[in-house]
Amino acid sequence: MILRNGTICTLDPSLPTVSSLWIAGERIAGGVGVHETSLPSPETVDLGGRCVLPGFTDSHVHFPTWALSQNDVRLHDCGSLAEALDRVRSAPRTGSWLRGQGWRDADWPDGPPSREALDEIERERPAMLISKDYHALWLNSAALTLAGGDLEVDGGVVVRDERGEPTGVLYEEAAWRFKERFARVPAEEYVDAMRAGVKIAASRGVTALHDKDGWLGAIGLWQRLEQQSALLQRVWQSTPAERVSDLRELGLRSGAGSPLLRLGYLKTFMDGTLGSQTAWMSDGSGVVITTSEELEEIVRRGAEAGWPVGVHAIGDAANRAALDAFERSRDAWQPLGLRQRIEHAQCLAPGDVARFAELGITVSAQFTHAPSDEQLAKRFWADRLEGTYSFGSLLESGALLANGSDAPVEELEPWAGVVAAVLDHWREDQRLTLEQALHAVCVAPAWLSHDERVRGTLVPGRYADLVVLDRDPFACEPEELREVQVVATMLGGRWTHNPPPWD
Ligand SMILES: [Zn+2]
Repeated sequence: MILRNGTICTLDPSLPTVSSLWIAGERIAGGVGVHETSLPSPETVDLGGRCVLPGFTDSHVHFPTWALSQNDVRLHDCGSLAEALDRVRSAPRTGSWLRGQGWRDADWPDGPPSREALDEIERERPAMLISKDYHALWLNSAALTLAGGDLEVDGGVVVRDERGEPTGVLYEEAAWRFKERFARVPAEEYVDAMRAGVKIAASRGVTALHDKDGWLGAIGLWQRLEQQSALLQRVWQSTPAERVSDLRELGLRSGAGSPLLRLGYLKTFMDGTLGSQTAWMSDGSGVVITTSEELEEIVRRGAEAGWPVGVHAIGDAANRAALDAFERSRDAWQPLGLRQRIEHAQCLAPGDVARFAELGITVSAQFTHAPSDEQLAKRFWADRLEGTYSFGSLLESGALLANGSDAPVEELEPWAGVVAAVLDHWREDQRLTLEQALHAVCVAPAWLSHDERVRGTLVPGRYADLVVLDRDPFACEPEELREVQVVATMLGGRWTHNPPPWD
């Protein structure tokens, strides 16, 4: 196949743009002349002046959870209890549960959520509405009945009325435990949602995913998709760090799998989040989930088993503790070439910025978090803004930056990440160039999954994983970047979204 009559941005510095691209089977072919004579009648695609880029990677997405949430009632913009209930009332009456998400009752004038209010709308099916920050559940009576009164747990809060009856709202551990024990989603329901989800992702130019939904069993869901030939992205799957000894015993090392689906990295957490004020900060506030010494142990044990670690760290103290752990354990992982990563790295002590490059730790950043967390950051981290969302400084120091959406926290939309990084960062000195942003969406994530020789740029020998855009972003005025649209997507030489011709 030949794509011609467009601008093809290879993201390879030695030959940044070409006007046509040859594809033989699943890969980009080299030596145009050779193929022109050896292929009798290649399929020609007229790009009509459109632009081609390497396919996008979402480097941090909770994919099965996001896919399932696509059918949820969305309560994100509800400013009152009444509005939220109206939204629930209009939900489709299908599925074994009534599921929703996105409520935040802090500013509701007409009272807190309650099971009675939900019961008036849904008595038969259990209803479970997850809060916007994912730290609380709002249940109806049918859902509470499933727990049979078994709600209390250390680290959890069960809200009760004056008679001591649960109101239907659970926080933290109590919420997680309920979800885990009583609201399990059948695998089939996940697989159905994921089959629809990969199509949505393909329509947004996504050809690879680093799945952060590393609960046990997630890999099996992806496998079902692959076996049904329904997988439309290359997946780099995380897995819980607590299971490293099982993995070691089974001899499963990072990288095991197929060209579409591989085991990737161990996931663990240093701290909580900015929004819930559980980020581990140098002023002593926040929550310590894993100490530096514990992480060092995890990194060492991971290295012994052949696994890199992706550790969630938000606060400045959490990031310092994580960097310290990687530094102390260097002897164990660096000789093996393990590609370690810190997820989020939102708040850094200025002195720690350069350590990512020094140690070779990749920053798994969320470009869209910077604009959406502006108010929170200015409120809670006012004295630490200098080290907050330091994308530009990190790149300047030589660090590798990979971008992810953190969907369903934000929308799974790589182009929105590019726009956020180039135009919307409130720390103007930390904004990126278009080239830098695209590097974080196309090139760096491929390196993280050891794919730098097979994808990430459009040069001969790489997989034909690419996206067709309606215009050349490098030729756009900055503000026009917001209007760029994905036209079509290709994975390994096959169209996964909107095959040509286009009009
Ligand atoms: Zn996440």
